[in-house]
Order: sequence, then structure tokens, then C-alpha cells
Amino acid sequence: MICLGIESTAHTFGMSVVDDKGNVLSNVKDTYKPKAGWGIIPMDARKHHEEIADSLLKNALEKAGKGEEDIDIISFSQGPGLPPCLYAGMNFSVELAKRLGKPLIGVNHCIAHIEIGRLTTKLKDPVTLYVSGANTQIIAHVSGKYRVFGETQDIGIGNALDKFGREAGLEFPHGPKIEVHAKGGKWIGLPYVVKGMDLSFSGIVTDATRKLKQGESLRDVCFSLQETTFAMVTEVIERALAHTGKNEVLLTGGVAANKRLTGMVDIMCRERGAKSAAVPWEYCMDNAAMIAWTGIVQHKAGHAPLDLEKVEVLPRWRTDDVDVVWI
Ligand code: AMP
Ligand code: MG
Repeated sequence: MICLGIESTAHTFGMSVVDDKGNVLSNVKDTYKPKAGWGIIPMDARKHHEEIADSLLKNALEKAGKGEEDIDIISFSQGPGLPPCLYAGMNFSVELAKRLGKPLIGVNHCIAHIEIGRLTTKLKDPVTLYVSGANTQIIAHVSGKYRVFGETQDIGIGNALDKFGREAGLEFPHGPKIEVHAKGGKWIGLPYVVKGMDLSFSGIVTDATRKLKQGESLRDVCFSLQETTFAMVTEVIERALAHTGKNEVLLTGGVAANKRLTGMVDIMCRERGAKSAAVPWEYCMDNAAMIAWTGIVQHKAGHAPLDLEKVEVLPRWRTDDVDVVWI
């Protein structure tokens, strides 16, 4: 069985062909880049996605060595995400499903990050740290659902880094630049904001920006920003491990590319006799292979295809709204 997956929740429009053994036959994407100093303008991102869609499909099929007739099912990221971006993916998917007469599966983007992580790292039942631009959640599978044990109360950790990077005049995406600037920095102190199991990052960005403007070095502020925010998520993951009794940690989302973050979580895990693994880079950032693979997982578990006349996007779809019948 072959699934074509389509990702379009934010800046990345991606298409991927995956088979039911978990082989990724192709995984192509094109990313909308906001102009310097700006965040995503959702309508511009939608326009980008709509313009690139046909050539991406051609590219994805060619790279996989497949034709449209080989596609058995189509899956798309139905939410959560920016509504204009989600509509670009949904409209394209629905049209294609109608034209090819194939079933269409709606996939939750956050759950797809976890499923591609389980596939690629071989972790079986991890506590997942999902740290992307917009999202920061600590998730574990308990009683039939991926439950959110802790999450940000305001912006995601990636957006926090990006926001600071913008203020500091760095280039987008700012997370990797901050990682480089942080090397050899020293601790200057920033607010540490863990509330129960939840987190908050926006005040930390405000304080980091103020300290930079008051003359602290970019290196020391980048270092302190990473140390503070990464220690906060590590603390919450450790409590989720203790609470659930699980002994694996999966790191996924764009920020999981950060070596200081993975290193910090790894130290905590080793001290508890647990193990941690980060999703390989190409599947860490937003990508369509995770949507295609989760489409297959859901289809095999008997998820009913969507009614093509009634399908809608789900911009606020929560991780813990989905019945995870495949575990
Ligand atoms: P995603 O939303 O999953 O596509 O991830 C994008 C986010 O990951 C952006 O906010 C980036 O700044 C962030 N990011 C990417 N690489 C790194 C890195 N090495 N360190 C920290 N953040 C990163
Ligand atoms: Mg994501």
C-alpha cells in the first residue's frame, strides 16, 4: 500500500510517498520565507503553497518512481495550524482524492510528529517532547490517547527563540543561529517559568531582549536563553517520566535539532536509567513523510476516510482529541 501525504500547517508545504512498511520513497517540500524582520503572513504562506502544489506533486511522484495510479490512499494535515495554510493543503488533497477516486485520511500534525518519531527511532512507548515553532508539549500515551502532561501557556519555544532572534537582528530561522552564538557564553540569569507542569516563554524573551539592549553580549544572552528554556522543559519531562513510569524520551519538532537541548535531556535520562532519542533532522522539522506514515497507520487501524463533501480544517485540533486506536 502506498500513501501520498500532504503537509501544510504553516510555512512548509510538503508531499511524500510512503509505503506500508514505513519506507519513505520520497519526501519533498518547499518553505515560505517571510521577509526580513517579519513572522509568517498566513495569506502569503497560503499563496506560496497554492503556487507550488502541482510541481511538488510531480516531484514527489518522480522521486518515488511512482505514478498517480499507484497511490492507494491520500492523507493530509487537517490541523492544528494556520487556517489559510491548512486550506491550501485541504483543497488540494480533496481535489486530488476526488480526481483519483481514493480515500482521504485527516491526520493530526502533532501526532504525526510522534508517529514518525516512533518509526525512525524504534522507541516504543516514549514520553515525547514536541518542540517546534508554534508548539511545546510534553506528551505520553496513557489510556488510549496521547495525553498532554505539560505545555506552554503562551508561545512555543521555537517561536520564543525566533522572536528573540528577530530582536537581535539575526536571520530566520533563528534557533540554529542562537545555538551557534551561545557557544562559550556565560550565565547571566533569566526568569525561570515552570507553573506546575506548564511552561511560559514570552516573559523570558522580553527579559532577554531587554538585557541585550542594556549591553549584555549576544553570546551570553543566547547562552542563558538556551540554558533557561531547555532546563525548564527537561524538568517537566522528568516529572512526566516519574508520573507515568515510562523509560523512553522522544524529542521531535524543529527545536529538537538543538544539540544542547538533546544533550541536557540525555543527561537527565541517563541519571534515571531511561533512554532518549531525537528524530532524524529531515523528519524533525515539518515534513510530509510523517503525514503519509500516520495516514497509513490510521488506515490500517480502520479509521474511516473523510467524507469529501463535508471535510473541514481543524485549526485548533488538540493532540488529546484523537482516539489512538493503533496502540
Ligand atoms: P518546526 O515548526 O517543527 O518546523 O520547527 C521550526 C522551529 O525550529 C523554528 O522556530 C526554528 O528556530 C527552530 N529550530 C530549528 N533548528 C534549531 C536549532 N538548532 N536550535 C533551536 N531551534 C531550532
Ligand atoms: Mg510541526
